[in-house]
Amino acid sequence: MAIPRIVIVGGGAGGLALATRLGHTLGKKKRAEIVLLDRNATHVWKPLLHELATGILNSTMDEVDFRGHSSVHGYRYQRGSLCGLDRTAKTLTLSPILDEDGKEVLPGRTLSYDYLVLSLGSVSNDFGTEGVAEHCHFMDSPGQAKAFQRDMINTFLRY
Ligand SMILES: Cc1cc2nc3c(=O)[nH]c(=O)nc-3n(C[C@H](O)[C@H](O)[C@H](O)COP(=O)(O)OP(=O)(O)OC[C@H]3O[C@@H](n4cnc5c(N)ncnc54)[C@H](O)[C@@H]3O)c2cc1C
Repeated sequence: MAIPRIVIVGGGAGGLALATRLGHTLGKKKRAEIVLLDRNATHVWKPLLHELATGILNSTMDEVDFRGHSSVHGYRYQRGSLCGLDRTAKTLTLSPILDEDGKEVLPGRTLSYDYLVLSLGSVSNDFGTEGVAEHCHFMDSPGQAKAFQRDMINTFLRY
């Protein structure tokens, strides 16, 4: 008999902890297939983003690589960005994966599930305040934290 597939979308603070726990309790015992889907290849603990932004933290040392982590914790990692959900057919639609130059690495695809956990987190809200979206740095992802650092260093260099 096929075992159920539990798909967790989002490997942040909540999703990574859940995938690890379920990997140990169900995945390793082959009682369920645990799949963690995230659009990034690594997890960075968000409360450390300000340290990444100021350059105190080295992201390559403090991030968790999902592929390596999954191989020892009994779950399977898939890279992908959720863009659609069909609850009747129990399938997720994933956007194509593009490289830094915008070229397609992997086409869009679907992923089926028996049980689904959405742990997508949240992003900062500018509450529609005029000028904020254009002029402020947001710090919801490692990419944004690194962009802040780049801008800060360039500003000091100009001075
Ligand atoms: C700068 C900063 C400092 C913070 N400091 C603290 C603190 O000191 N104490 C505290 O308790 N909390 C703090 N928080 C809040 C805490 O980080 C969040 O509450 C927590 O990370 C939420 O966990 P989560 O699993 O819900 O989502 P997240 O940790 O945000 O994870 C969401 C995951 O989903 C993935 N994802 C999103 N959309 C998609 C998609 N469409 N497809 C595939 N994957 C997707 C993302 O890549 C990410 O890995 C801080 C947050 C920030 C930004």
